[in-house]
Amino acid sequence: MAKEELECSFCGRKKPETNLLIAGLDAHICDKCIEQAHGIVLEESKQTDNSELSAELMLRKPQQIKDFLDEYIIGQDVTKKVMSVAVYNHYKRLLQPPSDDDIEIQKSNIIMVGQTGTGKTLMAKTIAKMLNVPLAIVDATVLTEAGYVGEDVESILTRLLQAADYSLEKAEKGIVFIDEIDKIARKSDNPSITRDVSGEGVQQALLKLLEGTVVNVPPKGGRKHPDQKFIEVNTENILFIAGGAFDGIDKVISKRLNMQAVGYSASMSEERIDHSNLLQYIIPKDLKDFGLIPEIIGRLPVLTYMDPLDAETLRSILTEPKNAIIKQYKKLFAMDEIDFSITDGALDFVVEKAVEYKLGARGLRSLCEEILTDAMFEMPGTDEKEIRVTKAYAEEKLTKSTIKKLKAVS
Ligand code: ADP
Repeated sequence: MAKEELECSFCGRKKPETNLLIAGLDAHICDKCIEQAHGIVLEESKQTDNSELSAELMLRKPQQIKDFLDEYIIGQDVTKKVMSVAVYNHYKRLLQPPSDDDIEIQKSNIIMVGQTGTGKTLMAKTIAKMLNVPLAIVDATVLTEAGYVGEDVESILTRLLQAADYSLEKAEKGIVFIDEIDKIARKSDNPSITRDVSGEGVQQALLKLLEGTVVNVPPKGGRKHPDQKFIEVNTENILFIAGGAFDGIDKVISKRLNMQAVGYSASMSEERIDHSNLLQYIIPKDLKDFGLIPEIIGRLPVLTYMDPLDAETLRSILTEPKNAIIKQYKKLFAMDEIDFSITDGALDFVVEKAVEYKLGARGLRSLCEEILTDAMFEMPGTDEKEIRVTKAYAEEKLTKSTIKKLKAVS
């Protein structure tokens, strides 16, 4: 074939009509067709990304979501159930094609009330892991109103963008866990604060995000700066999960229950109230009495609570979850071909100390670390191929002073 007769095998353009004609085995393609094909490839991959996400989200029914949570989290059945339904509904809402029946499914943002270390963060992390969506964990205590020292609420979305590797599409379907939401409660008992920098103002600012709005987010974080380029993030489909210990809310609940008991003596008699775990009776009004503004409570319609961890639960946390602490140590030692085992007596001892010193679930890890540091330091590289941790061994490593040290940092 003579040179001037060459043409694109896709569109038929002659070589002089193209900027570039690339030869294949027995065909040619011009620059215009390459561009077009590239566009199709991009479009196609975007669609598969979407449908993958949809399929993944829709595949799991509430019961299956709970089964997944069960693998990683011990107990907390009520919250697991409530979360499973909320998450299921949230993503059902998200995958809903626009309809004309005027029924708009509202967002199922969640608020979890429970002591620190009872697994609130773990719950949010596990949900995000299951759905394979980005998760940003933020601490409400560092947030302030715009213009004050601290972080603007927009920084929450910066974190989410970072967690999503700056994919706006992924970030807009992600999860935000706002920890310590109770710390931005209105401090009504302090009338001298005319401008409540860390309280109500922050709640108002948060409200905007929870409601679903388009926010200008500085992608690199930090203060808003006139010449920094913003990314517009729509928060409409972002699932917000808030958590807090709400120290003292049990008194609010108890007071309300007692008043109810007086009012309707038959409906909830004093004997039927389980005083060891008053959080189970929590209602939105209690959050309001604690100092959250009604609008925030309204935007976090799913309210649930965490049970306090008793010795039995702590014991299970050590060994049962998919990535239980003890399983992790076993794996670490196995990487040095060391066989690690721990006796029931030693496990009970660790739990006993965690309870005695009120170290909670977080303390379990620090206690194990104290017990095993020497072995992890000394054994690799030696001929010793087995470590068996007994109660006596644990007792020897955990002196009173080391536990006191743990208590100070926990
Ligand atoms: P919170 O957010 O309520 O303060 P975290 O989720 O950070 O608590 O939990 C602290 C630690 O304790 C984590 O390492 C977590 O793995 C463990 N933990 C707490 N509760 C549970 C639970 N119910 N099941 C398994 N692990 C738990």
